[in-house]
Order: sequence, then structure tokens, then C-alpha cells
Amino acid sequence: MTESGHVVYFDNGATSWPKPPEVIEAMATAMREQGANPGRGAYPMALAASRVVFESRRACADILGVPDSRDLVFLAGCTEACNLMLKGLLEPGDRVVVSSMEHNAVTRPLHVLSQQGVVVDVVAADSTGLVDALDMERAVKAAPTKAVVCQHASNVTGAIQPIADLADIAHENGALLLVDGAQGGGHLDVDLAGLEVDAYAVSGHKGLLGPQGIGLLYLRPGLDARELTQGGTGGSSSEQDAQPQGRPERYEAGTPNTPGIAGVGAAARLLAAHGAEWRAEEQRLFRMLKEGLLAMAGVTVYGPALNEPSVPILCITHDTIEPDRISFLLDRRAGVAVRAGLHCAPWAHRTIGTLETGAVRFGVGHATTEADVRTALAALAEVLA
Ligand code: PMP
Repeated sequence: MTESGHVVYFDNGATSWPKPPEVIEAMATAMREQGANPGRGAYPMALAASRVVFESRRACADILGVPDSRDLVFLAGCTEACNLMLKGLLEPGDRVVVSSMEHNAVTRPLHVLSQQGVVVDVVAADSTGLVDALDMERAVKAAPTKAVVCQHASNVTGAIQPIADLADIAHENGALLLVDGAQGGGHLDVDLAGLEVDAYAVSGHKGLLGPQGIGLLYLRPGLDARELTQGGTGGSSSEQDAQPQGRPERYEAGTPNTPGIAGVGAAARLLAAHGAEWRAEEQRLFRMLKEGLLAMAGVTVYGPALNEPSVPILCITHDTIEPDRISFLLDRRAGVAVRAGLHCAPWAHRTIGTLETGAVRFGVGHATTEADVRTALAALAEVLA
């Protein structure tokens, strides 16, 4: 941020900003007028809170292509969703095949599971971060496999993984397909029923434009994932010790984050109305940014080629100036907010060759303007001069 407080925001890969006014308003209304606990009391404000949760779940299900919204669970973020997806489905002795582009939200739970006897076999993506479905297939066929684990899109290079092919490969070989969709929802037109994934973890606060602290997990109907948290669900209290097994309450013990749920529901309604138009504009501005970066001397751009599909995220390094210094100077001189480092994804940086240096990440979002892109390119040119 410059001294005048001006921010040119390119850290949309971490979280989208600014949030739409409708999202902020829905959250304020949830606290002001629907502030009772949902799913518990029967007085008007409690019923209003229950309605907010129900309608938000339905709005999220609609934009993610989930036919029955009860198959979509609200959680604290994509990290919690990845933990539930992996720890709820894998057991000692299982083998998983996983891409080398995964975020720590996947690699760290898998590390814990590997210490408990889950075998984790990693398949390397190429230097743009793209996973080759044939390589994954070879690995799946090499030994009995419980699950293929892969992200939908990379938070480092923007590469969009061949999820539909991976679903076929997994299912033809009796395995599940478990997807980290943190960078998919909102930036891509996601149709989960059509993609035939078994589980898909979503971040509510990135492309989905909700507030931080909210995420979702889709579990295919009939898939029996163990819940990781037991506790109150509002109903079925007479069952005493046993956690209710119905969806979504099995996975949503405790008082829910109603303001966050209201916010992501409002965002989902906006995306249903404007998502296609916003995605097209994001892609146009992302192309403009990428073209500008590709033309800069000394800059290496990591990610798919200009005409290849990508979510609007990329990383750069410079021949002589360190990523941390670039990010510091961009902020100081022009208020351009980017993130330097490993982006919680050391596996991905190892794959593309930037584990030692880290890189500078730019993420275009729904509110990015052409003026923002011009400012960022001009500021970078000056920093690197
Ligand atoms: N996976 C990927 C690919 C991500 O980019 C992120 C966020 N950086 C996460 C998982 C974790 O998401 P959340 O912040 O919602 O927990």
C-alpha cells in the first residue's frame, strides 16, 4: 500500500478483494437481523437464520452443478475441506496417486496419513504445472489404488488440470477422484455432477468471492466419508452419543459460521448472474498482463503458454532481482499488492524449478481493471530497470 493508502490488488490467488458490496451487506444483515443460531430454535429469528443457511447452500450448489444441495457441506475453508476429504476417506494400507502440484492443504494431511500407513505415490507435472493424464493413468495401473488426488487448477502457475480425464481413469480402475478445487470455483465454470468427481473441496473466499473463513466440500451421493468432528447439530439430540449420519449435519457439528455462509451465498447468487461475464473479463485482463510480462527482458513467466487455458494466476522470477525485493518495491512505489515466496505450495515450486528462489505471484480477479494491469506493468518495468 502506498502512503496515500492506494492498493492495486493482484493477490487474488490468496483471497479475492474487494468483496462485492452485496456480500458485505448479506453478512451484516445476517448478524443484525438473522443473528440467532440456525437449525436450533423455532422462533422467527432462528428460522430466518436457518433459511439463510438453506438458501446459501442452494445458491452454492447451483453454481457448482450439485443437484442435491445436501451433498455440499459448509466448513471453515478449503484446507478443512481437503482434510475431511482425505482423512475421512483414506485408511492405512490404501494407496493414493497424487500430482506434484498440490498445495500444503493436501500434502500435509497426506503426510500425516502416510505416517499411518497410506502409500502416497507422486506423479510429476510438467514445468508449466500441467498434469499429464497418461502419466497419472500409468501410475494408477501400477498398483491397486484407492484414490487419485489432484487439484483443479494450480495456485502457482494457473494450469488447469484434466479433471474429466482423471475421473475416467480413476473410475475405470476402481479408484476415487478427490479434487482440491480451491482455485477452480468462480474462475472456472464448475459442473461437479458433469465432471463426475467423488469429492471436491472449495474455497469460499477466492474466486467464489465470499469472506475468509468459509469453504465447502462436495461429497458424491452415497460416498461414506467419516466425519472428523463430532458435536451438536441442533436436531437428533436424543441419539445422544452417536453423531447423526444424515447430510449435511454429519459434517457440520457446532454452531455454524452464519455470517460467512450468508456472504458466500450472496456471492454465489452474484456469480450465477454475472459469472460468465466476469470470467471473460478476467481472462482478457490476464492475457494483457501475461503478454506484458512475457515481453519484459530478464523476466521468466511460469505457467501455460499464452494461448493455453489457465485460471488467471501466474508466477514470475527475474534474472537478478529477488522475488521478495520485487514484491516490496511494487508495493512501496505503486501500491501493487502481490505475493512473493512459495505460496504454501513447495511441491509446485519444486516442479517448476523455483523451490530455491520462490517467485512473485499475480492473480487477476473479478474487480481487476485495465488501469490496474497498466499500473502493475509500468511499476514492474520501473522496479526492474
Ligand atoms: N488449495 C489451493 C490450491 C489453494 O490455493 C489454497 C489457498 N491458498 C488452499 C488449498 C487452501 O484454501 P483455504 O485458504 O480456503 O483454506
